[in-house]
Amino acid sequence: MSKRKNDFCCPKDDIYNSENIDTFKKDLKDLVESNGDTLLANNSISISYRNNEDDSHKVINENEQPHETINEKRKDYLSWDDFFMATAFLAAKRSKDPVTQVGACIVTPEKKIVGTGYNGMPIGCNDDDFPWGKSSSSKIDNKYFYVCHAEMNAVLNKNSADVRDCTIYVALFPCNECAKIIIQSGIKEVVYLSDKYSYKLEMIAAKKMFNASGVKYRQHIPSTQKLVLDFSEINSNMTQMPGTPFKTN
Ligand code: ZN
Repeated sequence: MSKRKNDFCCPKDDIYNSENIDTFKKDLKDLVESNGDTLLANNSISISYRNNEDDSHKVINENEQPHETINEKRKDYLSWDDFFMATAFLAAKRSKDPVTQVGACIVTPEKKIVGTGYNGMPIGCNDDDFPWGKSSSSKIDNKYFYVCHAEMNAVLNKNSADVRDCTIYVALFPCNECAKIIIQSGIKEVVYLSDKYSYKLEMIAAKKMFNASGVKYRQHIPSTQKLVLDFSEINSNMTQMPGTPFKTN
Protein backbone atom coordinates (compact mmCIF):
# COMPACT_ATOMS: atom_id res chain seq x y z
CA MET A 1 0.00 0.00 0.00
CA SER A 2 1.34 3.41 -0.82
CA LYS A 3 1.95 5.99 1.86
CA ARG A 4 -1.07 8.08 2.72
CA LYS A 5 -1.25 11.71 3.73
CA ASN A 6 -1.86 11.23 7.42
CA ASP A 7 0.26 8.18 8.10
CA PHE A 8 2.52 8.61 11.06
CA CYS A 9 5.77 6.89 11.77
CA CYS A 10 6.77 6.20 15.32
CA PRO A 11 9.82 8.18 16.25
CA LYS A 12 11.96 5.15 17.01
CA ASP A 13 13.30 2.42 14.80
CA ASP A 14 12.73 -0.41 17.24
CA ILE A 15 10.67 -3.37 16.18
CA TYR A 16 7.83 -3.61 18.67
CA ASN A 17 6.69 -6.97 19.92
CA SER A 18 5.23 -8.56 23.01
CA GLU A 19 8.61 -8.27 24.75
CA ASN A 20 8.78 -4.49 24.57
CA ILE A 21 5.10 -3.58 24.63
CA ASP A 22 5.78 -0.95 27.33
CA THR A 23 8.21 0.82 25.02
CA PHE A 24 5.59 0.73 22.29
CA LYS A 25 2.99 2.23 24.61
CA LYS A 26 5.33 5.02 25.67
CA ASP A 27 6.31 5.83 22.09
CA LEU A 28 2.66 5.80 21.05
CA LYS A 29 1.81 8.17 23.89
CA ASP A 30 4.59 10.52 22.73
CA LEU A 31 3.30 10.26 19.17
CA VAL A 32 -0.27 11.09 20.16
CA GLU A 33 0.89 14.03 22.24
CA SER A 34 2.93 15.45 19.38
CA ASN A 35 0.21 14.87 16.74
CA GLY A 36 -2.86 14.94 18.97
CA ASP A 37 -4.91 17.51 17.09
CA THR A 38 -4.52 15.75 13.78
CA LEU A 39 -5.37 12.37 15.23
CA LEU A 40 -8.49 13.72 16.92
CA ALA A 41 -9.58 15.46 13.73
CA ASN A 42 -9.37 12.17 11.89
CA ASN A 43 -11.82 10.57 14.30
CA SER A 44 -10.23 7.16 14.57
CA ILE A 45 -6.92 5.44 14.36
CA SER A 46 -5.92 1.85 14.18
CA ILE A 47 -2.63 0.37 15.12
CA SER A 48 -0.97 -2.51 13.42
CA TYR A 49 2.01 -4.59 14.40
CA ARG A 50 3.91 -5.89 11.45
CA ASN A 51 7.08 -7.86 11.02
CA ASN A 52 8.07 -5.88 8.00
CA GLU A 53 10.73 -3.40 9.11
CA ASP A 54 9.71 -0.85 6.46
CA ASP A 55 6.38 0.09 7.93
CA SER A 56 6.19 -1.76 11.23
CA HIS A 57 5.53 1.40 13.21
CA LYS A 58 2.77 3.04 11.28
CA VAL A 59 -0.34 4.37 12.91
CA ILE A 60 -2.83 4.47 10.10
CA ASN A 61 -6.03 6.41 9.75
CA GLU A 62 -8.33 3.77 8.24
CA ASN A 63 -10.98 6.33 7.28
CA GLU A 64 -8.79 7.97 4.72
CA GLN A 65 -8.74 6.52 1.23
CA PRO A 66 -5.43 6.26 -0.58
CA HIS A 67 -4.77 9.34 -2.69
CA GLU A 68 -4.84 7.43 -5.93
CA THR A 69 -8.51 6.35 -5.45
CA ILE A 70 -10.28 9.53 -4.35
CA ASN A 71 -10.23 11.07 -7.81
CA GLU A 72 -11.58 8.02 -9.59
CA LYS A 73 -15.04 6.48 -9.88
CA ARG A 74 -15.77 4.04 -7.05
CA LYS A 75 -15.61 0.42 -8.12
CA ASP A 76 -17.41 -1.22 -5.18
CA TYR A 77 -20.77 0.51 -5.57
CA LEU A 78 -23.99 -1.54 -5.37
CA SER A 79 -25.29 -3.21 -8.53
CA TRP A 80 -28.90 -2.44 -9.47
CA ASP A 81 -30.03 -5.93 -8.44
CA ASP A 82 -28.29 -5.64 -5.07
CA PHE A 83 -29.71 -2.16 -4.54
CA PHE A 84 -33.33 -3.13 -5.26
CA MET A 85 -33.08 -6.35 -3.26
CA ALA A 86 -31.56 -4.39 -0.36
CA THR A 87 -34.45 -1.93 -0.62
CA ALA A 88 -36.88 -4.84 -0.28
CA PHE A 89 -34.97 -6.06 2.78
CA LEU A 90 -34.97 -2.57 4.28
CA ALA A 91 -38.75 -2.33 3.82
CA ALA A 92 -39.06 -5.66 5.66
CA LYS A 93 -37.56 -4.00 8.73
CA ARG A 94 -40.89 -2.20 9.13
CA SER A 95 -42.78 -5.45 9.63
CA LYS A 96 -44.22 -6.25 13.06
CA ASP A 97 -44.47 -9.97 12.30
CA PRO A 98 -42.52 -11.79 15.03
CA VAL A 99 -41.55 -14.70 12.76
CA THR A 100 -41.26 -13.63 9.13
CA GLN A 101 -40.40 -10.16 7.91
CA VAL A 102 -40.69 -9.92 4.13
CA GLY A 103 -40.20 -6.91 1.89
CA ALA A 104 -40.85 -6.13 -1.76
CA CYS A 105 -39.71 -3.43 -4.14
CA ILE A 106 -41.21 -2.66 -7.57
CA VAL A 107 -39.00 -1.15 -10.25
CA THR A 108 -39.82 0.22 -13.70
CA PRO A 109 -37.86 -0.78 -16.82
CA GLU A 110 -36.10 2.61 -16.37
CA LYS A 111 -34.82 1.44 -12.95
CA LYS A 112 -37.11 3.70 -10.95
CA ILE A 113 -38.65 2.45 -7.71
CA VAL A 114 -42.42 2.93 -7.81
CA GLY A 115 -43.51 0.85 -4.84
CA THR A 116 -42.30 -0.84 -1.69
CA GLY A 117 -44.14 -3.00 0.80
CA TYR A 118 -43.79 -5.32 3.74
CA ASN A 119 -46.07 -7.82 5.41
CA GLY A 120 -48.50 -6.14 7.77
CA MET A 121 -52.07 -5.65 8.88
CA PRO A 122 -54.53 -3.83 6.58
CA ILE A 123 -54.96 -0.09 7.06
CA GLY A 124 -57.18 0.58 10.06
CA CYS A 125 -56.57 -2.87 11.57
CA ASN A 126 -54.60 -2.01 14.66
CA ASP A 127 -51.30 -3.88 15.01
CA ASP A 128 -52.02 -4.28 18.70
CA ASP A 129 -55.55 -5.62 18.29
CA PHE A 130 -55.07 -8.21 15.55
CA PRO A 131 -53.23 -11.50 16.18
CA TRP A 132 -49.59 -12.05 15.19
CA GLY A 133 -49.53 -15.71 16.28
CA LYS A 134 -50.10 -18.76 14.10
CA SER A 135 -50.66 -21.61 16.51
CA SER A 136 -54.14 -20.97 17.87
CA SER A 137 -56.54 -23.86 17.35
CA SER A 138 -59.04 -21.29 16.13
CA LYS A 139 -58.13 -20.02 12.64
CA ILE A 140 -59.83 -16.69 13.29
CA ASP A 141 -57.24 -16.01 16.00
CA ASN A 142 -54.22 -16.63 13.77
CA LYS A 143 -52.53 -13.99 11.63
CA TYR A 144 -53.08 -15.66 8.26
CA PHE A 145 -56.60 -14.32 7.68
CA TYR A 146 -55.44 -10.75 8.18
CA VAL A 147 -51.84 -10.07 7.19
CA CYS A 148 -51.27 -8.48 3.77
CA HIS A 149 -48.17 -9.86 2.10
CA ALA A 150 -45.34 -7.56 1.02
CA GLU A 151 -46.04 -8.05 -2.71
CA MET A 152 -49.68 -7.05 -2.33
CA ASN A 153 -48.76 -3.94 -0.35
CA ALA A 154 -46.05 -2.95 -2.83
CA VAL A 155 -48.50 -3.20 -5.75
CA LEU A 156 -51.32 -1.40 -3.95
CA ASN A 157 -49.05 1.31 -2.54
CA LYS A 158 -47.45 2.13 -5.89
CA ASN A 159 -46.86 5.80 -6.62
CA SER A 160 -47.26 5.42 -10.37
CA ALA A 161 -50.36 5.04 -12.54
CA ASP A 162 -49.68 1.34 -12.92
CA VAL A 163 -46.86 -1.20 -12.62
CA ARG A 164 -47.13 -2.63 -16.13
CA ASP A 165 -43.87 -4.18 -17.38
CA CYS A 166 -42.21 -3.62 -13.99
CA THR A 167 -39.97 -6.00 -12.04
CA ILE A 168 -40.73 -6.92 -8.45
CA TYR A 169 -37.87 -7.74 -6.05
CA VAL A 170 -38.89 -9.99 -3.17
CA ALA A 171 -37.03 -11.75 -0.40
CA LEU A 172 -39.12 -14.91 -0.68
CA PHE A 173 -40.66 -16.51 -3.75
CA PRO A 174 -44.28 -15.25 -3.90
CA CYS A 175 -47.20 -17.35 -2.74
CA ASN A 176 -50.13 -18.18 -5.03
CA GLU A 177 -52.22 -15.24 -3.78
CA CYS A 178 -49.44 -12.75 -4.47
CA ALA A 179 -48.70 -14.42 -7.80
CA LYS A 180 -52.26 -13.60 -8.89
CA ILE A 181 -51.84 -9.96 -7.90
CA ILE A 182 -48.46 -9.76 -9.66
CA ILE A 183 -49.87 -11.24 -12.86
CA GLN A 184 -53.01 -9.09 -12.86
CA SER A 185 -51.03 -5.90 -12.23
CA GLY A 186 -48.93 -6.41 -15.35
CA ILE A 187 -45.61 -7.02 -13.62
CA LYS A 188 -43.43 -8.96 -16.01
CA GLU A 189 -40.56 -10.23 -13.85
CA VAL A 190 -40.07 -11.54 -10.32
CA VAL A 191 -36.60 -11.43 -8.77
CA TYR A 192 -36.43 -13.40 -5.54
CA LEU A 193 -33.67 -14.20 -3.10
CA SER A 194 -34.92 -17.36 -1.42
CA ASP A 195 -37.21 -20.14 -2.56
CA LYS A 196 -37.02 -22.05 0.69
CA TYR A 197 -40.69 -22.99 0.57
CA SER A 198 -40.55 -24.34 -2.98
CA TYR A 199 -42.06 -27.64 -1.78
CA LYS A 200 -45.26 -25.92 -0.60
CA LEU A 201 -48.36 -26.09 -2.76
CA GLU A 202 -48.74 -22.29 -2.70
CA MET A 203 -45.37 -21.79 -4.39
CA ILE A 204 -45.91 -24.66 -6.83
CA ALA A 205 -49.22 -23.08 -7.84
CA ALA A 206 -47.52 -19.67 -8.13
CA LYS A 207 -44.95 -21.08 -10.55
CA LYS A 208 -47.67 -22.76 -12.60
CA MET A 209 -49.43 -19.41 -12.99
CA PHE A 210 -46.22 -17.49 -13.76
CA ASN A 211 -45.26 -20.04 -16.40
CA ALA A 212 -48.70 -19.91 -18.02
CA SER A 213 -48.93 -16.13 -18.05
CA GLY A 214 -45.35 -15.44 -19.17
CA VAL A 215 -44.11 -13.76 -15.99
CA LYS A 216 -40.39 -14.48 -15.77
CA TYR A 217 -38.77 -15.28 -12.46
CA ARG A 218 -35.13 -15.56 -11.48
CA GLN A 219 -33.14 -15.91 -8.30
CA HIS A 220 -30.74 -13.11 -7.38
CA ILE A 221 -27.52 -14.13 -5.69
CA PRO A 222 -26.30 -11.04 -3.83
CA SER A 223 -22.68 -10.01 -4.24
CA THR A 224 -22.32 -9.91 -0.46
CA GLN A 225 -24.20 -11.66 2.34
CA LYS A 226 -24.29 -8.55 4.52
CA LEU A 227 -24.73 -4.85 3.92
CA VAL A 228 -24.14 -2.56 6.86
CA LEU A 229 -25.65 0.91 7.04
CA ASP A 230 -23.46 3.13 9.17
CA PHE A 231 -25.18 6.43 9.91
CA SER A 232 -22.00 7.83 11.44
CA GLU A 233 -20.20 7.42 8.11
CA ILE A 234 -21.49 10.74 6.79
CA ASN A 235 -19.62 12.56 9.55
CA SER A 236 -16.31 10.88 8.82
CA ASN A 237 -13.61 12.37 6.64
CA MET A 238 -15.46 12.10 3.35
CA THR A 239 -16.71 15.28 1.75
CA GLN A 240 -18.70 16.16 -1.36
CA MET A 241 -17.79 19.82 -1.28
CA PRO A 242 -14.94 21.39 -3.22
CA GLY A 243 -12.29 23.08 -1.12
CA THR A 244 -13.08 26.67 -0.12
CA PRO A 245 -10.64 29.04 -1.81
CA PHE A 246 -8.63 31.22 0.55
CA LYS A 247 -9.06 34.95 0.37
CA THR A 248 -6.01 36.37 -1.32
CA ASN A 249 -6.34 40.07 -0.53
ZN1 ZN B 1 -48.01 -13.87 -0.71
